[in-house]
Amino acid sequence: MILSNWEKKRNQMVDLQIQARGVDDPLVLAAMRKVPRHLFVPPDYEDSAYADRPLPIGYGQTISQPYMVAVMTQALKLQGDERVLEVGTGSGYQAAVLAEIVDHVVSIERIPELAERALKTLRSLGYMNVEVVIGDGSKGYPARAPYDGIIVTAGAPEIPQVLVDQLADGGRLVIPVGDSFQQTLTRVTKKGEKVDIERLEGCIFVPLVGQYGWKENRPESI
Ligand code: SAM
Repeated sequence: MILSNWEKKRNQMVDLQIQARGVDDPLVLAAMRKVPRHLFVPPDYEDSAYADRPLPIGYGQTISQPYMVAVMTQALKLQGDERVLEVGTGSGYQAAVLAEIVDHVVSIERIPELAERALKTLRSLGYMNVEVVIGDGSKGYPARAPYDGIIVTAGAPEIPQVLVDQLADGGRLVIPVGDSFQQTLTRVTKKGEKVDIERLEGCIFVPLVGQYGWKENRPESI
């Protein structure tokens, strides 16, 4: 089989940045070998799409580092038949990785321009199992709850109880929790009336801005 340069870069990204650092869920690795990350970044950054870092996507926001996308997706412990809510659509890349694995993805983004662009990219690549919603995802999206998994791709000051409430029994919430400079990737597993909270690793995300996140205090520029 002849691989394109993009496919070679993508395989290298998975081998060196993701598998070598301990991510071993075959569903996650296969999804990340498949999704064309270079089509989710602005054209000026296409050449850096497979680099080991987040990249700007406009409006003061970023597409997350590939390793972090892999770690968070693995932390959801997916098997394939789930419905997952993503808070923070951004470029749509994480939603595409999820869409490769599960039946249905609902992704919510507060910046309408990003949501619209992400939806266009996702549809152009044939991802029909992703629904993109514009709104404050710190409140979740009760219209499609309960979810087997919720992934928050922005940093929250604390775990929003409304998100836990929207998990199915046994469902997992993966969320960066901390101050606005650094956070800890945290997994909350709902077990009946109880929750199990695990702190996984350090991370740095743009803030979750909304009712159950940080207050908006500066205008975003393009
Ligand atoms: N998952 C994205 C991707 O694959 O490109 C990257 C997400 S970026 C690190 C964080 C995103 O969360 C930004 O697009 C930001 O606008 C969004 N965001 C922040 N607060 C939000 C909220 N309350 N509801 C929905 N989206 C939010």
